[in-house]
Amino acid sequence: MRTINEILSGFTDMTLLPPVGSSGVQIVSGGMDSVTLLHFLIKYRKCEMTALSFDYGQKHRKELECAKANCKELGVEHHIVALPFISALFQSALLTGGSDIPEGHYEAENMKQTVVPNRNMIMSSIAVGFGQSQKLQFLSLGVHAGDHAIYPDCRAEFIDAFRKAVQLSDWNPFTVFAPFQRMTKIEILEIGMQLRPPVDYGKTWTCYKGEEKACGKCGACQERLEAFAVLKITDPCTML
Ligand SMILES: [Zn+2]
Repeated sequence: MRTINEILSGFTDMTLLPPVGSSGVQIVSGGMDSVTLLHFLIKYRKCEMTALSFDYGQKHRKELECAKANCKELGVEHHIVALPFISALFQSALLTGGSDIPEGHYEAENMKQTVVPNRNMIMSSIAVGFGQSQKLQFLSLGVHAGDHAIYPDCRAEFIDAFRKAVQLSDWNPFTVFAPFQRMTKIEILEIGMQLRPPVDYGKTWTCYKGEEKACGKCGACQERLEAFAVLKITDPCTML
């Protein structure tokens, strides 16, 4: 396995990383990417972080327990923001009451059913308002290269445009970072395993179905399984 510096040098330049010791707010879903990023910013960049999670009627609400457990482990202030209007008014297979979660690879056309329209912008806007009111310096987002195939508001072009809007939205300087935006789940997992202490992936939740155990078949599960298989690591998460 490579060192964190080796991984970063291949996929990141310093403009993607918040300054060492700076303060930020991060959206933590409870999945692998945002959890790894939170640990990375605290342990590797020595940032002071506050975390927000969103309860938006997702079928996999179980992820919120994972977000909570990681924030507790790291001693991070954590708020869960309820957005009940999303599942009441929006259409997506990801939401309670929506159609069944499709099975198959993430990049398959049918996975687009799991898009929650404009989700990233809605949650990011709320997190920016929170960060600005707390006089923090940045918002960090756990988006990664694998998201780009089906989630338009996770692309680098979107992040760049959103950052420009955010910088114009307040008198005080506040910006947006997405340090993992060029990485795949494999590099993110590698970083998490190389942190000291490493991330406990038993405390992350990836499956889109809201069942007791991960299904192993939805796009999210498949991407996770592939990352663990490539790195020859056993996934501590419970699968069927
Ligand atoms: Zn699944």
